[in-house]
Amino acid sequence: MSTLFVSDLHLDATYPAAIAQFEQLLRGAARGAEALYILGDLFEDWVGDDDDDPAREQVCQALRDYADGGTPCYLMHGNRDFLLGAGFTARSHCQLLGDAIELELYGERVVLTHGDALCTADLSYQRLRSVVRTPHWQRGFLRLPLATRRALAAAARAGSRAHTGTAAPYIMDADDAAVLASMRACRVSTLIHGHTHRPAIHEFMLAGQPARRIVLGAWYEQGSVLRWDAGGYELQVLARGGPE
Ligand code: MN
Repeated sequence: MSTLFVSDLHLDATYPAAIAQFEQLLRGAARGAEALYILGDLFEDWVGDDDDDPAREQVCQALRDYADGGTPCYLMHGNRDFLLGAGFTARSHCQLLGDAIELELYGERVVLTHGDALCTADLSYQRLRSVVRTPHWQRGFLRLPLATRRALAAAARAGSRAHTGTAAPYIMDADDAAVLASMRACRVSTLIHGHTHRPAIHEFMLAGQPARRIVLGAWYEQGSVLRWDAGGYELQVLARGGPE
């Protein structure tokens, strides 16, 4: 039995092939898993649990079928879908996790996080994050009509693209000091995250012990999956069949 991790699927109607590949994972390789963890940004955006977009409903339905099949599916918020709430868990039968959380994996304690909170050099993003993650801001946003929220989310995505297109690469990456601080605080040797779309296994020494930071790639770009079982872990890329 293995435990699977995916991140940054960014699912919406724009990339039907990414949705199809995720459905294939849920019906196939993930079906016999011990658990599936989605480390944030399952959706390209999520403007509220009342969103009735058909592509998003298709994903919720696939997750519901999967979870109802008996494999627990856990999910944490990403920076695009931090408004996923109780309405979403009712629709998907997934269980929402906090960010970050500690997990025991076959005798190894690890920390899971989306990864945006580690990008501490990106000051303008961290300022934005501290505002939109408050209950006050979220209540105000969720009171807006669905069409208005969708328009605002589209504008935010365009702003984010402009920002990530011009910021220096190091600003968009996880900050080493933030990584080490979070690992030390939890006394773990393994941190798993997504968000940066820079799949890699970084190995280093921490407190005299070998340590590692496993970065999942973006699912919609390359079908990135981390598979962990009693024998160890492997960061895999699943080939995507068919046209985009
Ligand atoms: Mn992200």
